[in-house]
Amino acid sequence: MLTIEFFCPLPNGLHARPAWALKEQCSAWRSDIRFINTRLNSHADAKSSLALISTGTLFNDRCVLEISGSDEEQARRTLEIYLAGAFIDSDAIPSGDAPHVAHPLPRSLLRLSPHLEHAITLASGIGAGTLRRFESNNLQRYRQYPASPEDTTRLEHSLATLAERLNHQLRGLDGESKTIISAHLSLIQDDEFGGNIHRLMTEARLSLAEAIIRNMDQICDKLSLSASDYLRERVSDIRDISEQLLSITWPELAPAAAFTLQSPTILLADDLTPSQFLSLDTRHLKGMVLEKTGRTSHTLILARAASIPVLSGLTVDSLQPVIGKEVILDGVCSVLVPEPDSAVSHYYAVAQRLATKRHQQQIKDAGLPARTKDNVPVDIAANIGSALEAPGAFASGAQGVGLFRTEMLYMDRDAAPDEQEQFEAYQQVLLSAEGKPVIFRTMDIGGDKQIPYLSLPQEENPFLGYRAVRIYPEFSSLFRTQLRAILRAGASGNALLMIPMVHSLDQILWVKQTLHQVQDELKAEGLRYTPHLPLGIMVEVPSVCFIIDHFCDEVDFFSIGSNDMTQYLYAVDRNNSRVSPLYNPIAPSFLRMVRQIVSAAHRHGKWVGICGELAGEGRYLPLLLGLGIDEFSMSGPRIPAVKALLRNLDSQACQTLAEQACECRSATEIETLLTAFTPEEPTRPLLALENIVMHEPLGSREQVLQFLCGNLAINGRTDHPLELEEDLWQREEIVTTAVGFGVAIPHTKSPWIRHSSISIARLEKPIDWESEMGDVELVIMLTLGAGEGNNHVKVFSQLARKLVNKAFREALFSATTPQSILELLNAEMTF
Ligand code: PEP
Ligand code: MG
Repeated sequence: MLTIEFFCPLPNGLHARPAWALKEQCSAWRSDIRFINTRLNSHADAKSSLALISTGTLFNDRCVLEISGSDEEQARRTLEIYLAGAFIDSDAIPSGDAPHVAHPLPRSLLRLSPHLEHAITLASGIGAGTLRRFESNNLQRYRQYPASPEDTTRLEHSLATLAERLNHQLRGLDGESKTIISAHLSLIQDDEFGGNIHRLMTEARLSLAEAIIRNMDQICDKLSLSASDYLRERVSDIRDISEQLLSITWPELAPAAAFTLQSPTILLADDLTPSQFLSLDTRHLKGMVLEKTGRTSHTLILARAASIPVLSGLTVDSLQPVIGKEVILDGVCSVLVPEPDSAVSHYYAVAQRLATKRHQQQIKDAGLPARTKDNVPVDIAANIGSALEAPGAFASGAQGVGLFRTEMLYMDRDAAPDEQEQFEAYQQVLLSAEGKPVIFRTMDIGGDKQIPYLSLPQEENPFLGYRAVRIYPEFSSLFRTQLRAILRAGASGNALLMIPMVHSLDQILWVKQTLHQVQDELKAEGLRYTPHLPLGIMVEVPSVCFIIDHFCDEVDFFSIGSNDMTQYLYAVDRNNSRVSPLYNPIAPSFLRMVRQIVSAAHRHGKWVGICGELAGEGRYLPLLLGLGIDEFSMSGPRIPAVKALLRNLDSQACQTLAEQACECRSATEIETLLTAFTPEEPTRPLLALENIVMHEPLGSREQVLQFLCGNLAINGRTDHPLELEEDLWQREEIVTTAVGFGVAIPHTKSPWIRHSSISIARLEKPIDWESEMGDVELVIMLTLGAGEGNNHVKVFSQLARKLVNKAFREALFSATTPQSILELLNAEMTF
């Protein structure tokens, strides 16, 4: 039997909709699957939604799935991914951008009995300030003007003025703000926008103000009904430009005073338009609670870029009593804390200090090279879908962009982006890459990625249909426009070109011919472009594997699209849940195919990357590395963890592992092999300078344990500081760990520690340890791994023996630097 342990991430608990979704996931497997809520000790057959609902599972409950049967291994793998990712989306309320992992709430906070409002995190971080309601613009006042013969001219004038204003604004902007204002500009320049207002005036005989408002409502109503989150979230953009249009037409009715922030503020609103957000002084904006915003809304993108934490899942009405009061917005634990008392405020002061320290550490680590333990360099790159994602990916340590899904630029709109728009987006990515390579995958549209304005016919078998490179000859002017934009942008950086879904040499020969023609055109026009654009293909269709040598004569690199390759290799639809158990790239056939691609390409001096989801799955990194993959491209947030794993791998051991895996007879055998393959992490000393803290303003037992556990996480000694803290408290609450002489030794043997550690906090002032043994000035915290046997007892008793020695104690207390504490303990003790 296999198990999956998790904390229920659903803010509203396991109610009907998520229960149904979980049942559907579990029913796809032959294995028996039981759901257990360990808090209530309630059990259910996970293939029955009613039974699941009846477990009474709430947010953050610790739960277990027990899986037993012939396909338990695959079931576990798939369900684990589901529970950590898409499960939260089955709740009715939209969730955060990245799947937000539920943690136990920290005991050091809960012990302070704070009043907590549970919410959903849309942008992480912590902020504090006065809760203020953002007064949205009431448009009713504009309706007072009757229709007039000048309305048409006024409309044209206002549209032109707004365009001019946005153009002017654009000049002073960069990054996300620039992209969003450009999007607004293209909306108002869209003929349909002004055209519809005009029609409403002439056909429905509405006044100009009513026509602008009706047009806004009509578009917003349509968008709100869309199945696409992205489209629904464009509502605030439409509102934004409509309101601006009204205020330009009747400046005398525009809100008298802008909403100004003068002190730290947490803003509460239904939603906020991007320009309302941009009008706020972000020096004072410490967080936002937005009732209706969605995870891809532009306002949210701007907030993330400005590091403003955002919560949703709370209503403006429910927070009415707290307006005007001090609140703390905690996007890490997904709670809003109204009127925190001083103990709770201190908890958050410590949390903020830890966050700052972590941020500094991440910036430092992002620059660490991606190399194996035996010094083999590996390229770790990012997959992006828009220029907006690039800066974040590089900040996470991406060494390039391995896949820019450019088709995203073509989606959710009425016409294809023109050359200039594309050029600007591509150039923006290249500039933020600062010379690092950026692989532009040309538009992968058609098939399941429908673009209404291309009017491609519906197909029986979209994945086997008219898509990607196959449509380029018919839409050659669209393709040429894209090539022109990439070639021109390429002059500003290190651009590479990659063609999706290629399956025959003819296709790439046609692409190369077109590319040369476009280059000649640009040259003749005297435009600046890159003459050097390395060309690669995605390896997504199995036929390519047999003619890699031919492709090597024509292209410079390959990137395996494991998402599509898996479905084509096994003939398993990647979107059909009935066959999803069969959709597993970690099988002997797939691995042998990768081996074949890599060895043929390497023989011809070409490199091979991988850019499907598989590339970011840490568990399979040793296998893929062992198969000789040169570049791994994944979503930005995965990069730091994958780089850290990589540094622990030995390339020779990975090669042996990959060879063994290719000889396995089943996926299960490969999984067993992988489970047994534990790369040795370099052992770290029990006691190290990084774990000794002095001069930290820590004023309570809660703050000390919170800080020391957080510090272990920052130093990579635990990935689960809150769980570790929980384990410490379990012991702490049974028996005091103060041992007299002003010393406390909190301790635990925990599965949540990666490297056994001794942490030391030399406190500035004695603190109450809630013990008869008196106040505490020095804390020595032992956190040892679950496999350490009796070592914690040995270290504990050795320490206790030393502490009764007055000279040792005095030396310890009078040490003035972490270094001197370290030297003293190393000299006096054997660990
Ligand atoms: C793939 O198929 O693996 C891939 C990266 O392309 P997409 O997921 O965009 O089809
Ligand atoms: Mg693909």
